Amino acid sequence: TRGESRRAALASVAGYASRCGYSTASSSQRLAGKVAVITGGASGIGKATAEEFVRNGAKVVLADVQDDLGRALATELGPDAACYTRCDVTDEAQVAAAVDLAVARHGKLDIMLNNAGIVGSLARPQLSDLDLNDFDAVMAINARGVMAGVKHAARVMAPRRSGSIICMASVAGVLGSVTPHPYSVSKAAVLGIVRAVAGEMARSGVRVNAISPNYIPTPLVMRILEQWYPKASAEEHRRIVEGDINEMKGAVLEPDDIARAALYLASDEAKYVNGHNLVVDGGFTVGKAPNMPAPAL
Ligand code: NAD
Repeated sequence: TRGESRRAALASVAGYASRCGYSTASSSQRLAGKVAVITGGASGIGKATAEEFVRNGAKVVLADVQDDLGRALATELGPDAACYTRCDVTDEAQVAAAVDLAVARHGKLDIMLNNAGIVGSLARPQLSDLDLNDFDAVMAINARGVMAGVKHAARVMAPRRSGSIICMASVAGVLGSVTPHPYSVSKAAVLGIVRAVAGEMARSGVRVNAISPNYIPTPLVMRILEQWYPKASAEEHRRIVEGDINEMKGAVLEPDDIARAALYLASDEAKYVNGHNLVVDGGFTVGKAPNMPAPAL
């Protein structure tokens, strides 16, 4: 299978490295020996981050509600490195159980990636269209679910005086008008959670940071485009994200770019980085020109 051939390839690289006299654990595995829980780990950014974490020597617990995808990814990553558990982040007990599973299996939790998220209703983002039930549903996952993840990760990390909690925010939490309102409010709340708890956590030796990606064509974003441009093909939807929306000439934002941002925040290289929002947006949130009229000729 693909998982077996990937494991064989990794083993042969590790074998070659040790024959050459250096260890992959110290030279390239930036999370060697660390244990992570990733909510929303079955798809998109969560999946890419799980793969990056495992490549870097971590054990991961994938916590999601897409059981088939989550189990398949865990199998691909290998039973030593990954397992899947069903965890709906709107239920605090299930979030607590995912954290406890990591501790039961591996003895500790070093990294908590609060990544599960939804967009909510895909109606065009006008205030007059706002459905407060939709607002509650989005907040329950994107904001309350993150708060639950922070709370329960801190419960097991603080006594050990060590840990990195990472919360997936968005450019929509920095700027308004980028997405439907409930999503934007929920991501601003994620940044608020990080700011609220980082000081308290620092005194326990635990770091709490956010990552704010720009648009990436994951299943979450493709669903938005399907709704907004129903006549366009999947290829055209991808071109809108990677072409029209894209900020950075010559580069396209991919899930792996966010995985590497998470890798940095999770690793000891970021040992003094706390309360930070790592914006990965090609400069989008700082680069918008004001709507000035053109100068008169
Ligand atoms: P995705 O849909 O591929 O992945 C989201 C995952 O979260 C899915 O596997 C889904 O099953 C899971 N999930 C949803 N509700 C859940 C719940 N109640 N409990 C547990 N898991 C649940 O989308 P993605 O783009 O990879 O999104 C990951 C995170 O990144 C989200 O928080 C999203 O808001 C954020 N984000 C995405 C983009 C982007 O452009 N794709 C940009 C900025 C931020």
